[in-house]
Order: sequence, then C-alpha cells, then structure tokens
Amino acid sequence: MSHDGENIMVILSSPSGVGKTTLTKKIQQKYQSFKISVSHTTRPPRSNEVDGVDYHFVSKKKFENLIFEKKFYEYAKIFENYYGTLKENVDNIIKKNDLIFDIDWQGTKQLSKYKNLRLTKIYLITGSKDELKKRLLKRNQNTTQEVKKRFESFDEDIKHWSDYDYILINENLENCFKQIETIIKNSKENSQHSISSVIR
Ligand code: 5GP
Repeated sequence: MSHDGENIMVILSSPSGVGKTTLTKKIQQKYQSFKISVSHTTRPPRSNEVDGVDYHFVSKKKFENLIFEKKFYEYAKIFENYYGTLKENVDNIIKKNDLIFDIDWQGTKQLSKYKNLRLTKIYLITGSKDELKKRLLKRNQNTTQEVKKRFESFDEDIKHWSDYDYILINENLENCFKQIETIIKNSKENSQHSISSVIR
C-alpha cells in the first residue's frame, strides 16, 4: 500500500456508543476530500444499516475465504463477528481521497505495521463509564446481551490507548468535532511539508 500525493488516513477508534459514527459522517460531510473506509463484516445488519454504505455484510464463509486469499490489510474478531478492511478498497480510494477508518485497536495495531502509511490515530472516549453505559442503552440498537458485551469490552480497550496519537473525550459533540478538525488540518499540513521536502 502506498500513498499518492498528500492524502492522509485517519483512524477513529472508540468503545461502541461514544459517537464515532456520527463524527465520522460529520467529517465526510464537511470535507469532500474524505471518504469513509467501508469495512466487511459478518455481523447482521441493524435495521438502519445499508449494505455497501455502513458495511459490506458478508457470510462467515465468504469472510474466511477473503482471509485465506490475504485480501485484508487488517481484520479482527469482535463480539464473535469478523470485521475487516479490504486492501483493494483502500488502495483505490487513497489515490484520490483522504480516508477515515472506523476500526478497533486490533485493526489499528495491524495497520500501524505498514510504516509507509501516513496514519493519524485518534481514540475517542466518554467522560465516564457511566456515561458510556447510558449512551449504549439510549442507542437502543443492540440487545441487552450485546450492550453488556460492548460495555465490558471497555476495560480491554483502554489498555491500548498508548497505540494512539490522540485521546479525545467526547463530552460535547461540537467541541469534539472541532478538535478532530484541528488534528486533521495539522496532519494534512505535515503531509504537504513532507512531500515538498521530498520534491526539493
Ligand atoms: P459495530 O458492530 O458496533 O458496528 O462495531 C463494533 C466494533 O467494530 C467497533 O469498535 C468498530 O470500530 C469495529 N470495526 C468496524 N469495522 C472494523 C474493521 O474493518 N476492522 C476492525 N478491526 N474493527 C472494525
């Protein structure tokens, strides 16, 4: 995988329910250059999700074939389902656009091994564990069992914060969005600097 021009890759990770999807969509709406990396998953779609937009929903057999054929830059098993980022999709998008990845810490670790990537890694959290539980329950998209599993994964997740460049607390969506915008602008500028120093 290699970059053309100064396009950047931003990873946004967080426990479920912190507002990552909303923020990712906000970035894409405001910055036309950004595309969201649409992952493959074996998780069944939620009622509001569209195949090919939110995820590419595939069977376990299809996913395991893709693993066998080494088609993924990264993949992970999360809450008993597979999630992964297809090489082909990333390689096509990064030629013309910046990319946002909504992936977990396992995927972040795997992508970080590609040293030539201009990755900016952001971890989003809520102000407290109680707040996270409230948001998960309010979201009402998961069964009680799923909420429990997602809540419990928080303790495992926080062990991996040191793999990230930035940790942001999403107490207020607009403030958090502004912080992400600043990070993105800095990353773009740094990327342009590194290109001009190569050209010179
Ligand atoms: P959900 O089922 O709530 O949509 O996502 C569960 C978790 O899977 C989230 O933390 C999300 O960031 C992560 N995830 C989604 N797509 C990918 C992917 O392609 N790779 C990895 N490693 N994690 C993913």
